[in-house]
Amino acid sequence: MSITARTRVLTLFGDPVEHSASPEIQNAAFLEAGVDGVYVAVRCATEDLSGFMRGLALAGGGGNITLPHKEKAAAIVDVSSEAVRRTGACNTFWGENGQVHGDNTDVEGFRRALQIFMDGPSKGARALILGAGGAARATLVGLLEEGADEVLLYNRTSERAQAVARRIGGQRARVVPVMEELDGERFDIVINTTRVGLDPDDPTPIDFELLGRAGAVMDLVYGRHQTSFVKAAERLGIRATDGMEMLVQQGAASFESWWNKPAPIDLMRNAIRQSLDR
Ligand code: NAP
Repeated sequence: MSITARTRVLTLFGDPVEHSASPEIQNAAFLEAGVDGVYVAVRCATEDLSGFMRGLALAGGGGNITLPHKEKAAAIVDVSSEAVRRTGACNTFWGENGQVHGDNTDVEGFRRALQIFMDGPSKGARALILGAGGAARATLVGLLEEGADEVLLYNRTSERAQAVARRIGGQRARVVPVMEELDGERFDIVINTTRVGLDPDDPTPIDFELLGRAGAVMDLVYGRHQTSFVKAAERLGIRATDGMEMLVQQGAASFESWWNKPAPIDLMRNAIRQSLDR
């Protein structure tokens, strides 16, 4: 499809953005789905974000927001999804009826990836989340929406985990202040949302010998390499997956927000694999 004056512009705003594979993945998806859009990445300072987002959305465009602007974006949008309200972060925006709409598709992406991995909803599950950043908030909301019974949170900086639990958790989330308190605990699923594992030489974010049982393990980290968390789990015979499927699914959910049609998910999955292989 050729680019014309009617082509919608979808933009990734962040700082930095040069490393992002989103332009390749979304443009491939736009082509496959036959939608008239183009996706670009723009490095953007915090003070410019509001002008960029509003101008673009009200001109019929939209896009994604990445680090470090997701919280700021949540404050900019006029109409927030439930996921934005609960997490306080926005990674997807678009214009509708003269207003800027925002969603946090990390929540939906996590839920879809978890459902695929666990072969259905995680109703009644007991879960452990490692970490307390933006990804942990999306994961906690996703687990609660999937019907998890109890979610324990452990983070290196315990105060951050307390803040996440206070904001989102309700009765079903509890902070574990020191790792030793996890001794002998049993979980249906343990999820790593820390950055540990981004480097192939990173240690594993938790010592599995400490836990009584981990039924399954999900790492939000992904890369060319097998992450330390996935490697350690598989060595012990625990079913494990990395963050690639969540990445695919959150991108697909963004696509669906902009175009109101199903995303070409297999093509997006292949595009992500190819971009990781490069
Ligand atoms: P963030 O807000 O910066 O949070 C980082 C988290 O990692 C914090 O809990 C931090 O603990 C912890 N951490 C960092 N270094 C650590 C270390 N050496 N030991 C123990 N904990 C450490 O980042 P984020 O946005 O939540 O992202 C976290 C990870 O999730 C990233 O790797 C990101 O790529 C991944 N992610 C994946 C997807 C996906 O689609 N697969 C989506 C979103 C994020 P402190 O609070 O103690 O500093």
